[in-house]
Amino acid sequence: MNLRIHSIFRSTEGEGVHIGVPQVFVRFQGCNVGCLNCDSKETWDFTDDTMTMNEVLAKIEDLCQGVNPIRRVSITGGDPLHPKNSDAALELSRVLKKSGFYVNIEAAGTRVVNELFDIIDFISFDYKTPSTGVKPNAKVLKSLCDQYSGKAQIKAVIADKKDFEATFDMLTTTLGMYDNEKPDIPWILTPCYEPEEEFPTARFSEVVRMNEDFGAPFRVIGQQHKMIHGPNKRDI
Ligand code: SF4
Repeated sequence: MNLRIHSIFRSTEGEGVHIGVPQVFVRFQGCNVGCLNCDSKETWDFTDDTMTMNEVLAKIEDLCQGVNPIRRVSITGGDPLHPKNSDAALELSRVLKKSGFYVNIEAAGTRVVNELFDIIDFISFDYKTPSTGVKPNAKVLKSLCDQYSGKAQIKAVIADKKDFEATFDMLTTTLGMYDNEKPDIPWILTPCYEPEEEFPTARFSEVVRMNEDFGAPFRVIGQQHKMIHGPNKRDI
């Protein structure tokens, strides 16, 4: 089987609940979600450039080497769950699980793929806030929460108060998942850090303050890789 791959690289998780954990990232090529604030638009085209499964696995194994090898892979994109990529993501996950890897998928949150989610270790979905320009899909989020509690997180990029309020509304009113108790699945607010801008201290502080004011239903976790390398560097 061939896989549509943008890049494979070793790095440390820069966002969400696994922040700070080293792993190998397999970034699929191709996404048609169209987020306005996407920081990896170079992954959008469904190009014909592919790698064989053996090439992908060899690259992963090579990048894992160290005093003790890393046995952890994050499958991301682009959109690894787009129908043009999901069969390859499933097959890759099967092989990695057989080889003893911890497998995490980081996806836009447009579809639940049970065959895949049942065999991997962790699922990270996005809640698309108004600033992304993408309509969120409450049904898909609910399906994830109902079926994969304990092995999933939902992340929302927050650019402003409107984004925060929309996320709070989705969690509480639309999904009815918060009643002065933490939801079973952690919801993570990622303060937006745009390419070319200085570290957005004021925006970050505002997101922290809003979360406190609204009873702390979320965790606020910034993008560590951008803090270290700046907002423009890719594949880190
Ligand atoms: S889903 Fe991800 S890769 Fe696709 S447009 Fe949105 S941020 Fe970019």
